Amino acid sequence: MARRREGNGGSPEICSRRREEAEGSVRRVIRLLTSAATGWVVAWLCGCAAWGAEGTHALSGETMGTTWSVKFRGGEVSPQRRDGHRDGVQAELDRLEAQMSDYRADSVVSRFNRGRGTNWFAVPGETARVVREALEISRRTDGAFDITVAPLVALWGFGPRRKTGVVPPDAAIAAARARVGWRHLEVRETTAGVDETGAMGAALRKGIPDLEIDLGGIAKGFAADAVSELLWRRGVTNHLVGIGGDLRARGAGPAGEGWRVGIERPAVAPAVVERVVSLRDQAVSTSGNYRNFFTVGGKRYGHIIDPRTGWPVSAGVLSVSVVAKSGTWADALATGLLVLGEAAAVRVAEREGVGMVLVRGDGATREWLRE
Ligand code: ADP
Ligand code: MG
Repeated sequence: MARRREGNGGSPEICSRRREEAEGSVRRVIRLLTSAATGWVVAWLCGCAAWGAEGTHALSGETMGTTWSVKFRGGEVSPQRRDGHRDGVQAELDRLEAQMSDYRADSVVSRFNRGRGTNWFAVPGETARVVREALEISRRTDGAFDITVAPLVALWGFGPRRKTGVVPPDAAIAAARARVGWRHLEVRETTAGVDETGAMGAALRKGIPDLEIDLGGIAKGFAADAVSELLWRRGVTNHLVGIGGDLRARGAGPAGEGWRVGIERPAVAPAVVERVVSLRDQAVSTSGNYRNFFTVGGKRYGHIIDPRTGWPVSAGVLSVSVVAKSGTWADALATGLLVLGEAAAVRVAEREGVGMVLVRGDGATREWLRE
């Protein structure tokens, strides 16, 4: 979860970019500017002629230290209905943030983290579900994505108690690493029956008392999926949801060709669109280590940590964008593939059938996108 409210908060900004079209008109480019650490990378381009035409609507607000935004297509909508959608989305996001934020001492995750017991700890169904998905992605990335990385994130100064500019001593890294490992975390979902204390329902269990979790690499994508589900239930079936740089689309888009989304080149100003993808029932997320970092002795240390070494991911890969079936998978896999590095990332992306755009430290871009 992005936590810092710096940069461009508030609603998405609209800018324009010239593009030759048959009728010579100017395509409008809608960029979602976020305060997320890597949020600059993924923008959305509703470059279609239909953008702004009657029947395309926008909603926005703030959550998880960044902005959320929804575009949807669907005829006339009364102001009351529009407000109902906006309030519904905000309430859903508030609910998830209250569960998953490690910036709030009273969140479900913070309470689980503080506990040192190894019995089942009851959690709401969504928390169990996001943890179950996180563990599955750990398995499929050989532990490169690992929500139990929390003690290392804190040690390197990227946790809620932020301190920057310090490379921890080896002994401290080794001590934190001993508290990390997704195999020490168990999850039970509502259907799984009664536990040894007679309780039932969704719960988490620590295999070692010092285990802590950090959902920052998966919660925004999960929340984008949840908002998409909510909109679907409300009959809004053609939409694009953005939470920071994590986007989830459904339906045929504003003009029937999907929701056009731009993936920007990392760390260049002014922003340059690297690639435009059309999303239907898909999601895209980007992870990079080039916006949230500190520098010591000319070397950069970023907020994505390799749980296997205990060190921040090196600059071999600048950013990874993943196009997947769900926001949860896109978000977590983008983080995991960045940790894996190019060769292993390509293998895993192919095996999992996801699209990937990878920008190397030397600026070269490689992409594996299915049309
Ligand atoms: P952002 O949330 O900045 O958009 P990511 O989705 O890549 O970017 O998530 C990065 C966050 O995930 C970090 O700030 C940290 O909280 C957490 N994290 C860091 N390393 C890992 C890792 N190896 N596996 C899972 N989560 C991680
Ligand atoms: Mg992520």
